[in-house]
Amino acid sequence: MTPTFTKQDILRISTHLKMSPESFKEKWLMKSSDNNDLVNKTQPCQFLDLKSNKCSIYEVRPFDCAAFPHFKRKPFADFNHIHEQNIDYCPATFRFVTHMKEMIEKDYHWT
Ligand code: SF4
Repeated sequence: MTPTFTKQDILRISTHLKMSPESFKEKWLMKSSDNNDLVNKTQPCQFLDLKSNKCSIYEVRPFDCAAFPHFKRKPFADFNHIHEQNIDYCPATFRFVTHMKEMIEKDYHWT
C-alpha cells in the first residue's frame, strides 16, 4: 500500500525536508498506473523508520495517511474499494466492515 500525495502534501513535506517539490517528486514519487495519482516509488514507504516502526514525517505526513482508515471520508461509497483493499491489513477496517455486514444482515433479516 502507498499513500497518494496531493500538491499540498508535496509542498508541506518537501519544505519540511528542505527540498524543492520537484526534487521530492523526482526522488520519491511516480504516477500510479491506475489513475495517475502520485504515489511512492518504493515499498515500504521511504518515511517509515524500520527501527522504531514509526513515521519519520508524522507531523507533516500526507493527508491520505492522516485520514486513514478513511471512515469519515465522504461520500462514503466512493471509498468502498479502499476499505476492501485495507480489510486484509487493518484490524479497524476488518471490525468496521464486519459490524456493517452484521447490521445489514440484521436489518434485512438475511440471517
Ligand atoms: S504514515 Fe508515514 S510512514 Fe506511513 S505511509 Fe504515511 S508517510 Fe509513509
